[in-house]
This record gives sequence, structure tokens and C-alpha cells, in this order.
Amino acid sequence: MTRTLQFFRTRCLDCNADFAMPALPDMSYGQFIWSGERGIGFAYFDACDSSIFEHIKSVMKRAVGYPTSPTHEDTDRFHFVVAGCARKIEGQQLVPHHVCPTCRSRNVSPDDNEPVADCQVEDASYDEFLAKPALEQILIVTILCNKWSKKRRSNL
Ligand SMILES: [Zn+2]
Repeated sequence: MTRTLQFFRTRCLDCNADFAMPALPDMSYGQFIWSGERGIGFAYFDACDSSIFEHIKSVMKRAVGYPTSPTHEDTDRFHFVVAGCARKIEGQQLVPHHVCPTCRSRNVSPDDNEPVADCQVEDASYDEFLAKPALEQILIVTILCNKWSKKRRSNL
């Protein structure tokens, strides 16, 4: 499945590169855009009509634990894991934030007033992940959690 998303002019606040990225309208509750970790390619994910959130949460509970009252940080890590479990795009793991395709900074600023095009974006696919044995799913989620912690530490 694909859907049409509006792409907006976006500027990288670190290297000043100019590019176009998709954005969702305000109030898009439960909808996400995952980006390739090199800033190339996007996938659309709608948590409302998918059981993926609940499934990955249950895997995460078994892998590293997931609190009943998650903090902002727990939620951030959870989104990173859910994005990371989606099928890769052009060999890139997906991440839950925009990435500058030039310098890979996540410090980018879309200009909501300047739509540049309507483009087709594929739905994030979880078929490959769901087809894996339970133990392998736990391993993948554990690796993603470690990767998230490492990234977080290096950003401090
Ligand atoms: Zn940049």
C-alpha cells in the first residue's frame, strides 16, 4: 500500500542543506513517518489500524521490560524500536525522526507553508519481522534498544 503525502521544503540547521521531506497534517494522532537513517526514503505508519504497536510492546516487555507508566524517554525509545523493526528501505534501518540526507543531522526544520510536491510513500512493512521466530524478534528488539541508548549517550 502507498499513500500520498505532502512534501515540504526543509532546511538542515546544521549544514544548511535544502531538501523536501514529507510531513503529516497537525492532529495526525497515531500516524508516523519513519525515515531512512541516511535520510533517503520514507515509510508511513498508522498505529491506529495496526496491531504492531501492541505486538512490539509485548516483545519489548520480554526483551528489556516496558513500564506501565512510560516516561517521555520510554516512549521515545519505543518509537525508535518500532521504526527499526520495519522493513529496511535501500538497506537503511528506519528511524522515527527526519534525517538530513547531506550530514545526517536530525536537526532539520520543515517549512509548513511551502509544500513542494505530493508524493507517494509506501506503508511501513512488518511482514518480515512478524515472520521471524519469537526469540529472534526479542534479539532484534534488544539490539535496537541498545542502539537507542548508545545514540542517546552520544547526543548528551
Ligand atoms: Zn545537514
